[in-house]
Amino acid sequence: MRDALAIVGGGPAGMMAAIRAAEMLGDGRRVVLFDKNDRLGRKIYLTGKGRCNLTNRRSWEEFAPHIHPNQGFLKNAFRAFSNEDVIRFFEEELGVPTVTQQGQRVYPASLVAGDVARALERRVQELGVDVRRGVTVASLAELADFGAVIIATGGKSYPITGSTGDGYRFAEEAGHTVTPIFPSETALLPRDYDPGLPGLEMKNVGLHLYIDRTLVESEQGDFNFTGDGLESGIAYHLSRRAVRALCNGQRVDIVLDLKPALTEAQIKTRLGREEQAGGIRSREHFSASGTNARAAKPGRQSIRSFLPEQLIDPFLRANPDLTVENLPQRLKAWPFRIIDYKGFERAVVTAGGVSLKEIVPKTMASRLRPGLYFCGEVLDLDGDTGGYNLQIAFSTGSLAGISAAKYLL
Ligand SMILES: Cc1cc2nc3c(=O)[nH]c(=O)nc-3n(C[C@H](O)[C@H](O)[C@H](O)COP(=O)(O)OP(=O)(O)OC[C@H]3O[C@@H](n4cnc5c(N)ncnc54)[C@H](O)[C@@H]3O)c2cc1C
Repeated sequence: MRDALAIVGGGPAGMMAAIRAAEMLGDGRRVVLFDKNDRLGRKIYLTGKGRCNLTNRRSWEEFAPHIHPNQGFLKNAFRAFSNEDVIRFFEEELGVPTVTQQGQRVYPASLVAGDVARALERRVQELGVDVRRGVTVASLAELADFGAVIIATGGKSYPITGSTGDGYRFAEEAGHTVTPIFPSETALLPRDYDPGLPGLEMKNVGLHLYIDRTLVESEQGDFNFTGDGLESGIAYHLSRRAVRALCNGQRVDIVLDLKPALTEAQIKTRLGREEQAGGIRSREHFSASGTNARAAKPGRQSIRSFLPEQLIDPFLRANPDLTVENLPQRLKAWPFRIIDYKGFERAVVTAGGVSLKEIVPKTMASRLRPGLYFCGEVLDLDGDTGGYNLQIAFSTGSLAGISAAKYLL
């Protein structure tokens, strides 16, 4: 066993490591891949809403800001096996054609996530890797006979897929520091969540994140109101900072800008035209002289020209004091006090993990124990939605596999 490599975890990072190590060693039987599930890459089947957004085609300069908390750490691994390399690998080595869609997101051309998982598993098998399915590794000590070990156990999110955070325990067993973990890319629940909101899809809106009343991040794009709160798209992007702040006991507010392309002044002008053109106007707020038109409630017809029909009632309930005067400001700033978030059971990714300070970025080797390597989500490394997390898994997995094989050789 001293000339063999053990890999714990058969997700995208572990399978990639197994492929590269088997190629390098020229003998797959020297690579033993353990996974607690009967099927490898179980989480991959869920990715990208079943379509698997396997990477993102942006250049490193545009890619890097989507990596947290330390984009510099990924640079070597990304250079060694980049997003373009991943695309070539799937197309030329695995026979999986890809397609690039909106936002430079890359998917298998079939748009079937299972094609990605099965192609990786097939390659692992072709190379003769010794795959031990349905085996849960309980401790690092169990693997003491192996010449090298790679931990690729993933994070703690979606535990039904097998990612239950075991790798953090293994890392601590070897003396590693594990930074606090928390769910990221997850739904944010507002206080007094209006029952009319779940189910509404917001297109091209703005979201501003305030922590302790200070603006820290703004995003423009799409998100959904779901039963769990503000979810997907730009809401996910803000969730990393928002969840961390909630964990720290800080106040979190999100302000929704329903008209990011228009200034308040432009909305005012448009509204003036709408009202003049016969928008229904309630007269109850007019002063006795009838001149205080700005204090009048705006007509539903006017609001309709700014908001989809289903949003009007929740918007009116959130703004009981709405007037023609304040409507432009309210459309630009609908505040939500965030009080909770969806936990690991439904979070896309786990932030935090094995401290990067104790890992060599050029090899993925432990600085503390020779022959020990880490890759994928178990590391304190995570990405936004958009294919960044699988690229982290492929880049770090490939590098860990090559490095561990070299160590054995
Ligand atoms: C719903 C959802 C959708 C997503 N969509 C995308 C997307 O479209 N694009 C993208 O880039 N990212 C996406 N992600 C994130 C991405 O799937 C993960 O970041 C990625 O799978 C991490 O890869 P990994 O190999 O490090 O870990 P995992 O995929 O979590 O794999 C870890 C493996 O280790 C095994 N394991 C754990 N502990 C043990 C043990 N003790 N013994 C044996 N085996 C063990 C587990 O069974 C599992 O198979 C999504 C995540 C979710 C939950």
